[in-house]
Amino acid sequence: MKRTAQFFKESIFVALVLALFGCGLEKPLPKQPNIILITLESLRPDHVGSYTGPRPTTPMLDRLAEESVVYDEAHSVTSWTLASHASIFTGLYPSAHGANQSRSRLDDMPTLARLLREEGYQTAGFASGPYLARNHNLSQGFEFYDDSPATLGTQGGAHKDVTNVKMVSAIHRFLKKERKPESPLFLFAYFWDPHYDYIPPSPYDRMFVDDEMTRINLEGYESNSLISSELEAEEIRFILSQYDGEIAWTDQMLERVFDALKQASLWEDSLVIVTSDHGEEFFDHGKKGHKKSLYVESVHVPLFVKFPRATRTGRDARLVSLVDLFSTVLETAGVADIPDHQGHSLLRPVPEDRSIFFELLASHYFQDADRSGYTRKDEEWFAVRKGDWKLVTVPEQGRRELYAVGADPVEQFDIAITDPARVDAMEALIALWLKNSVDFAENRNAAEAVLSEDQLERLRALGYVE
Ligand SMILES: [Zn+2]
Repeated sequence: MKRTAQFFKESIFVALVLALFGCGLEKPLPKQPNIILITLESLRPDHVGSYTGPRPTTPMLDRLAEESVVYDEAHSVTSWTLASHASIFTGLYPSAHGANQSRSRLDDMPTLARLLREEGYQTAGFASGPYLARNHNLSQGFEFYDDSPATLGTQGGAHKDVTNVKMVSAIHRFLKKERKPESPLFLFAYFWDPHYDYIPPSPYDRMFVDDEMTRINLEGYESNSLISSELEAEEIRFILSQYDGEIAWTDQMLERVFDALKQASLWEDSLVIVTSDHGEEFFDHGKKGHKKSLYVESVHVPLFVKFPRATRTGRDARLVSLVDLFSTVLETAGVADIPDHQGHSLLRPVPEDRSIFFELLASHYFQDADRSGYTRKDEEWFAVRKGDWKLVTVPEQGRRELYAVGADPVEQFDIAITDPARVDAMEALIALWLKNSVDFAENRNAAEAVLSEDQLERLRALGYVE
């Protein structure tokens, strides 16, 4: 009996020692992990190796995929930069946050940066595209915000800007001089370079070119009417080779950013999210660029989430939206009081019958007959995805298109005529969601951003304003 008691005492002692010095060697996860959020401009998942990209464009993202959850069915809420980023930052769809036009200035509201700053995070943002310049107020809540790569404006217009190197230097500079290690960090970085014109620097301009391709001049891509769906297949393949070159060039810069974060002990315990603000059209439905429609090529995005210490990894096939990042980030950061929003935290089960929504206010400019100015014509698009069904509507034109995306993932065969009851039901979902969004938007004063002539010129060169 005595020996047994002694044995128990010794066992407890050994167990305690193990707990303290064995398993205890592993530090507990920080309550407020660092959060790194990176958005890459106009990146389609079918041009990313760890998705269905056929070329080795993204070795860095592919390595990130191994320690992340990779979301196969992630979607942006729209097909352009400003409205999409505002949704990432607020967890609200564009008609709810109100920043849904080219000149919009996001109202002061609870954004990720504001909320995390209130929780004691050091908040730092880096932006290289014009819509993230501080005039649009997506910089609110960032204690440190470097948008200098987005306001170069001197190198022949936005489409010629090569900003990746400036972004990497800005992040390095911050980590070296401004980082306050006593606070957890929220770092946001938006990389612009995959945006058209696709003119990657050497050697990326040759990396994916083969002898059969026909070279064409890609300068002034958006306004050049010769770059149209009339192009030969070998010319379109050349365009894609240059887009892939921009992606490979940006991926290589990510390696430098990831290395800098690792050196600053900002990797292992951090939540790292990498995604894109929207996709890109290459005449899939006849058009080029983005901000034109809501078909899959414009809204399907890559999404990698590396959880602190990579506690979850693998593929996740749930239907998710970038509005979901808001509560995912805040929950990971331990924020108790998360403001009302329209997403679902990725940390929780997503309802089986979930619907995700898309909206776009596309503006077209027509020169007046007397050439004295331009008339703007707005075109509203809405879409909903529920299970394997997607409805795309343009109410003003009476367009209602239904796609069975399980059988037709590239949304080429409109089968609305075969299933009017489903079309009506899905249209009702859009109406309900829109009402909910408008309720959010009540009492909000949508304002215009005050832009300099130089900034307007950049937006003009991209075809975004008149
Ligand atoms: Zn964009």
